[in-house]
Amino acid sequence: MNQFVETDATDAQASEAPLPPGLYIVATPIGNLGDLSPRAASILSRVEAIAVEDSRVTAKLLHHLGIKRPMTPYHDHNADKVRPGLVERMAHAPVALVSDAGTPLISDPGYKLVRDARAAGIAVTTIPGPCAAVAALTLAGLPTDRFFFLGFLPSKEKARAEAIEEVAAIRATLILYESGPRLGATLAALAKGLGDREAAVVREISKRFEESVAAPLSVLAERYAESGPKGEIVIVVGPPGPAPAATQDDAEALLRTALQHLPAAKAAGEVARATGLNRRDLYARAMEMKDEEE
Ligand code: SAM
Repeated sequence: MNQFVETDATDAQASEAPLPPGLYIVATPIGNLGDLSPRAASILSRVEAIAVEDSRVTAKLLHHLGIKRPMTPYHDHNADKVRPGLVERMAHAPVALVSDAGTPLISDPGYKLVRDARAAGIAVTTIPGPCAAVAALTLAGLPTDRFFFLGFLPSKEKARAEAIEEVAAIRATLILYESGPRLGATLAALAKGLGDREAAVVREISKRFEESVAAPLSVLAERYAESGPKGEIVIVVGPPGPAPAATQDDAEALLRTALQHLPAAKAAGEVARATGLNRRDLYARAMEMKDEEE
């Protein structure tokens, strides 16, 4: 079966026909310009305007593509002011949204533009492509089945420690963006707040000096303590080790609670599932508890 499903919208987008009005979210390269998809290039060449984070950055990309399109700055400092005008424009013209690099909206402006466009009944299309978080995850050699994206942590020490504490119990690989100068301090804070988990510092993805350095957090913190490396960085931290085994005391407390609303056999089954302890032993203990109560 053909897994590449083409909708009417993508047919129109793939041809040279004029684009229907709407918002086109276009991912751009995070380093290697060759990573811009042909569809992204086609969309950028045919929209009436491109909302950009920094027109100097996007001008270089458009120059590389041999495209000239009007650009409208859309960034954290002017977004609230220019958003209504952009949404109005999309109602009758195709407008693209790009960020300086990678996928717009991912630690970049855009989600309120999508929200308001949707609320105004405007068609929203995404042109997927590079994203540093996902690319780093593929390089890190850490579990990929469950991951949690944290973006940038706060720079102040206390707020950073609190943010780390908040995610310490999450049983998933963590992905963070960071800059060179803050790398050492962030790795040390992660080692302190999460324990010495396996991690990777992934740098300069798709560029000349791409590298992925994997080691326990404490080793990475030491390696980058003095000076952070140059370039753009993603930190990937492996999930916590297995949860500590439930103790007999935990099981007793759970059984007591379960017996308040379940018969002994069901209570034992529920606690066995939750703790991994033997169901027969738990049933025997549940019966003892019932006898003690009578
Ligand atoms: N929207 C972008 C995306 O899809 O990845 C992320 C934008 S965020 C403002 C920029 C951060 O992404 C950088 O500070 C760095 O942490 C990470 N990043 C971007 N490009 C990268 C690259 N080539 N290699 C490693 N990290 C990169």
